Amino acid sequence: PSRQDSPLYPVLENAAAFYRQQLRHHAQRKRAVDYLQQRGLTGQIAKLYDIGFAPPGWNNLMGHLATDNTEEKVLIEAGLVVENPDSGKRYDRFRDRITFPIRDSRGRVIGFGGRVLGDDKPKYLNSPETPVFHKGRELYGLYEARKQNRQLDDILVVEGYMDVIALAQHGVTNAVATLGTATSEEHLKRLFRIVNSVVFCFDGDNAGRQAAWRALQSCLPALEDGRHVRFMFLPEGQDPDSLIRSEGHDAFRARMVQQAQPLTDYLFRHLAEEAPPDSLEGKAHLATLALPLIEQVPGSLLRRLLRQSLEARTGMDLDSLPAAPPVEPTSA
Ligand code: ATP
Ligand code: MN
Ligand code: MN
Ligand code: MN
Repeated sequence: PSRQDSPLYPVLENAAAFYRQQLRHHAQRKRAVDYLQQRGLTGQIAKLYDIGFAPPGWNNLMGHLATDNTEEKVLIEAGLVVENPDSGKRYDRFRDRITFPIRDSRGRVIGFGGRVLGDDKPKYLNSPETPVFHKGRELYGLYEARKQNRQLDDILVVEGYMDVIALAQHGVTNAVATLGTATSEEHLKRLFRIVNSVVFCFDGDNAGRQAAWRALQSCLPALEDGRHVRFMFLPEGQDPDSLIRSEGHDAFRARMVQQAQPLTDYLFRHLAEEAPPDSLEGKAHLATLALPLIEQVPGSLLRRLLRQSLEARTGMDLDSLPAAPPVEPTSA
C-alpha cells in the first residue's frame, strides 16, 4: 500500500487514543498529571497537543490493540512495539512515559515522542523510522501551529516537544521542533512553503549553538530574495521552555523582536570569530570561509549584498577574482 493509505495510520491513531485514555483513567494517572502540572501545563494545552500517558508495564498497548500475531506485526511496523531480535519477545516501546503524538501536515498521527516522568535516562524516546515517519522531514507542532493560527507570518523553530508546548501555553503558538535531528534542507523547504520568515531559537548551551550554525548552513540554499531567517540566542542554560516560564510572554516576544539576529549578521559574526579580519591573513581566511557559503544563496540580490559586505570587511574587490576552478571529477 502507498504512504497515502497505509494501514499504519489507523493503528497510530488508536495508539494516540489509548495513551490519551490512560492519562484520564489509569490508576497511576496522577503521577503523569502532576508531572505535567509541575511543568506549568494546563489541561487545555494538554488536550490541544493531545498529550498522553504510556503506563508502566510491557504489554499495555499491545494487549489493548493486538489480538493475534498479524496485528502485533502491524504494531511493530508502526514502531509502537519492539521485538527483541534474540528472544523474539515483543513489548511496548513506550512505557511509563508522557507521550506526544507527532502529526503530519494533514493531522494524521505518524509517530510519538515519549518523556520519562523524572530524571531517568534516556529522557526522550522517539518512534523509529517507519514507512510513515521520517524524522528528517517532519516538524513537531506544525499541524497544531496551523490549527491555532488562521495565518502564520513567521515560524519559530525550537529543539524540543516541551519547548513547543510551553511556548503555546504562554501564547506563542507558532513554534515547531525538529525531532532530535539537525534542521535539514527538507525542513526548510517545508517551512518556506508556509511562511517567508523563520526564527531559530535553540537552547543556550553548546549543543544549541552548534545546532544553530548547522541550521544556518541548511538555510543558505533556501535563501531566495524576500525570505528572512533570524537566530535568537538564549542566555546560558536556558531553553525556550524555561525562559518563557520565568520571563513570561511579553518579555519573550520583546526578546524575539530586539535580539533575533538576521542570518547574515550571525554568519559574519560567527566567521569573524574563526577568522578575525584584523590582518591580511585574517581577511584572506575570512574570504575563504565566507565565499563558499555566500555562493550557495540563490537570491541574487541577497547574494550580491553578502559579497559587498564581505568586500567591505576585507577591503577586497571580489569581482576581480578569477572564477573558482572547476572541481576535478574524482576518478573511480
Ligand atoms: P526537558 O525540558 O523535558 O527536561 P530538555 O530541554 O533538557 O528536556 P534537551 O536535552 O534540551 O531536553 O533536548 C531537546 C530535545 O531534543 C528534546 O525535547 C527531544 O525532542 C530531543 N531529544 C533529546 N534527547 C533525545 C533522545 N535521546 N532521543 C530523541 N530525542 C531526543
Ligand atoms: Mn539542550
Ligand atoms: Mn532543552
Ligand atoms: Mn527543557
